[in-house]
Amino acid sequence: MSIGNDYGFCAACGNVKEDQSSSLCNQCSLAEYATIKEYIRKNPHANAMDIANHTGISIDRIVRHIKGGAFTYSKR
Ligand SMILES: [Zn+2]
Repeated sequence: MSIGNDYGFCAACGNVKEDQSSSLCNQCSLAEYATIKEYIRKNPHANAMDIANHTGISIDRIVRHIKGGAFTYSKR
């Protein structure tokens, strides 16, 4: 089930994380989500690549948020 390195610790802040399937703790994941959501609000036609380029968040992370049902983005 492990997808990674730094198992048990947040990749961003180093705190212990609860969700072992994520590389980030809940707090960092929420902050990341807010960043993506804000970018999409300002750029409703952005795709995952655009979001990644402008936010610095990896596409894997963005797709993960999208698959979580948090929001949708433009597909082209
Ligand atoms: Zn964190």
